[in-house]
Amino acid sequence: MVTTDIFERCQSYTEARAAQAVGLYAYFTVFEGSDTTVARTSAGDVLMCGSNNYLGLTSDPRVRAAAQMAVEEFGSSRTGSRLLNGNTSLHEELERELADFLGMPSALLFPTGYQANLGVIASLLSRDDVVIIDREAHASVYDGCGLSPGRVRRFAHNDMEDLERRLANCPSDAGRLVVVDGVYSMAGDLCPLPETVRLCQKYGARLLVDDAHGLGVLAEGRGTSAHFGVTEQVDLITVTFSKSLASIGGAVLGPKHVIEYLRHHARSLIFSAAAPPASLAAAQAALRILRAEPWLCRQALENASFVHRELGALGYEPLPSETPIVCVPLDGVVPTLFTWHSLLERGVYVNAVIPPAASSRLRASFTAAHTPEQLKTAVAAFAAVRDLTPPDWSLEDWSPE
Ligand code: PMP
Repeated sequence: MVTTDIFERCQSYTEARAAQAVGLYAYFTVFEGSDTTVARTSAGDVLMCGSNNYLGLTSDPRVRAAAQMAVEEFGSSRTGSRLLNGNTSLHEELERELADFLGMPSALLFPTGYQANLGVIASLLSRDDVVIIDREAHASVYDGCGLSPGRVRRFAHNDMEDLERRLANCPSDAGRLVVVDGVYSMAGDLCPLPETVRLCQKYGARLLVDDAHGLGVLAEGRGTSAHFGVTEQVDLITVTFSKSLASIGGAVLGPKHVIEYLRHHARSLIFSAAAPPASLAAAQAALRILRAEPWLCRQALENASFVHRELGALGYEPLPSETPIVCVPLDGVVPTLFTWHSLLERGVYVNAVIPPAASSRLRASFTAAHTPEQLKTAVAAFAAVRDLTPPDWSLEDWSPE
């Protein structure tokens, strides 16, 4: 009988259940403790090589103190949208500091980076406009496109010829927005921004760069646009505080009149509560540390490139990366979950990525806070699991009976 119960699909969602049943589930691990590189789990301490805490600032005493002071001064939350009762001097100060640091005219803070992308993409286009995105853009870019009335086109990852074809095919009277990630988080590769900028200028398109993973990492922290020296030609940049800035929150940076428009039109800002003061103060403290100590960015990059080299020497084939992200493609879901689990048994936590997020791979990231001994421990764990044989069945073969 055909069911109309929308909950029915929840019963048949077996992939996660299968992974749990065979002991290969890799998600929602419970972590405790405040150390940057070592986290506590119920099975013991693990070396954390799967966090976006690139500068290692989440446990920095200055960042923690700033968060604590903000709670004293502002309470735990303003419990409201910035449009109404949720705005604070902390929001506005951080907007000014971010714009100054990134060399952009103006900034607008959102509760998260995800919401920044949603708000910008959903509110700038009308029905006849076209948004053209890199196929590997972040999920929040895709979701922003889903909310936008504009027409959505995708181009092959980092393929400038394909981008040009899509731009050339836009109706002559359509507004155009191109959206790319500065750093692609599932591999660690960069967008070729100079060529992207050139094409946007040639075809009269505006360019939005999601620089979630470039901020605090490239060009002494100023990000991918600064790395390529094209900040003045990039129209809009979105950032998150949930990686190098050791907190949670997000922002868009761009021309004053566009920011002013978004302030009054971005629904993901207006209809959601403001980021709490402790988070903003933590991000602000992290930003100030980053400005004063740009060696942190170089340290994160050096640490990752050490591991990248060593994994290559072990016979892994990590994807090319110019960032703290080190991704190792593996041959399918079960081998990925199995290798993830084998590393965890040896006390090393990385992220297991499986479709539909991206093709199967382990995604590790290394921070300025990892010590040389910790990096060697991570490499040794990869060496130890190198020749283990994963099970040869697939999760679809599993049945609850
Ligand atoms: N863009 C990219 C490329 C990201 O990786 C992320 C976070 N994974 C976001 C946007 C969203 O940021 P937030 O965590 O602040 O919502």
